[in-house]
Amino acid sequence: MSGGNACRNKEHRPHWRVLLRNAHRSAFNGYRLTASAYSEIQCTQCGHVWRTKAAYVATLPNA
Ligand SMILES: [Zn+2]
Repeated sequence: MSGGNACRNKEHRPHWRVLLRNAHRSAFNGYRLTASAYSEIQCTQCGHVWRTKAAYVATLPNA
């Protein structure tokens, strides 16, 4: 799995939302949430979803 393509449009940045903050859903445990260094981000403008552990996640609002 690639983890999806991150939004590269800086003008979309105000529209980025955190879907899963510091968590991960894994098929191996029945899709329960587990702690992770990574967060799942969605751009509500172009619909891209990606996972990252970049520092900017702390500045983004929850979805
Ligand atoms: Zn976007």
